[in-house]
Amino acid sequence: MKTDDIMKIAGRVECVQPSPPRAVFDLASTLDDVVDLTLGDPDLPPPENVRAAACRAIMEGKTRYSANAGLKELRKAIALDAEKNLGFPVDPDREIIVTVGAMEASFLSLYTLLEPGDEVVIHAPYWINYSQVVRSLGATPVFVYTRPEENFQLTAEALEAVLTPRTRLVILNSPNNPTGAIIPRETLKKIASLAQERNFAVLSDEIYDSLIYDGKSSTSILSFPGMRERSILINGMSKRFAMTGYRLGWAIGPAPLIAQMTKMQENIVACAPLPAQYAGIEALSSRTDSSFIRQEFQRRRDVLFNGINAIPGLVCKPIPSTFYAMVDICGSGLEAEDFVYRMLKEVKVATVFGPAYGGEFYKNFIRIAFTMKEERLKTALERIADFMDRLKK
Ligand code: PLP
Repeated sequence: MKTDDIMKIAGRVECVQPSPPRAVFDLASTLDDVVDLTLGDPDLPPPENVRAAACRAIMEGKTRYSANAGLKELRKAIALDAEKNLGFPVDPDREIIVTVGAMEASFLSLYTLLEPGDEVVIHAPYWINYSQVVRSLGATPVFVYTRPEENFQLTAEALEAVLTPRTRLVILNSPNNPTGAIIPRETLKKIASLAQERNFAVLSDEIYDSLIYDGKSSTSILSFPGMRERSILINGMSKRFAMTGYRLGWAIGPAPLIAQMTKMQENIVACAPLPAQYAGIEALSSRTDSSFIRQEFQRRRDVLFNGINAIPGLVCKPIPSTFYAMVDICGSGLEAEDFVYRMLKEVKVATVFGPAYGGEFYKNFIRIAFTMKEERLKTALERIADFMDRLKK
């Protein structure tokens, strides 16, 4: 028997496409002096007391396994933090699981809930992992395409139009990666009614809820009557405390679902890393001030927004949240994939092509992650302007 036959890759893995942002990132890292605007990975360090807590945990040997659901003290801190936004108490013993990043929380939720043939509604443009995992589990992603001319706003009517009797789950991501769009309260209220009428569950990924600018805020769909029983809320430390590499996230949901996810946790990672969990407890304590992270990204947002709109041929709509911008490149005469690879080659700026986040519908867009320092962003803007100039010649 040939090795290829012995090591035949399972269909559920083979159907997963390599991640386009990672592909551009990997190519960029083989070139010199690239300004890399591909990944949503902040360059800021977490607050100092949080870093110290992680070091302390290591030095004091607090590095064994924890309960599968995570340290009780951390779950308590997460419950108290979530309650402020949700308006109801969360049971740290039964309704929370700590995970290896929000990524594992989302994987574990989908893995626990979906059967082959289930339909999962995802609003596009979307974070790529959702559709990959849904497909891998033999379920079917069904997309609702939000429109650039409507500031990528999801409407309850567009969502309703794609519901079928097989709709098992709707994934909401507000604030949204890659558009920064925030689903308004009124729309969430309508979606909450639809969920109850049409009997679907909701996975609400709110990982960017701490990166909302200009004094605004977002609402969680779980705060509407009848929704906590049919929803999973996903959040984590990565974006709020610039702790991407700590790999710490969580899911909040109905006790029977969390119990099943916790059972599976033993078979996947056992628990999130302990130094990260101790750092998480510190991050959520009253000693931590993480407001500098949002302020810094708001400043970078302004630099990027003004800079892009000053370049003839490029348009960037207001960015209310996150550290991503979907930039309309229509005026370049190129389609996004061509634009991205040519710009990387010619002026050494790495971005991601819009179709990675929802197909041809977004072929006139690129995504820019403004996770770089202001100075570096300005260099990127100069190079992008230079690239647009070259295209005209
Ligand atoms: N959800 C969305 C929408 C994201 O953009 C990301 C990361 O970029 C995640 C979840 C995963 O975050 P974490 O680093 O906590 O796994």
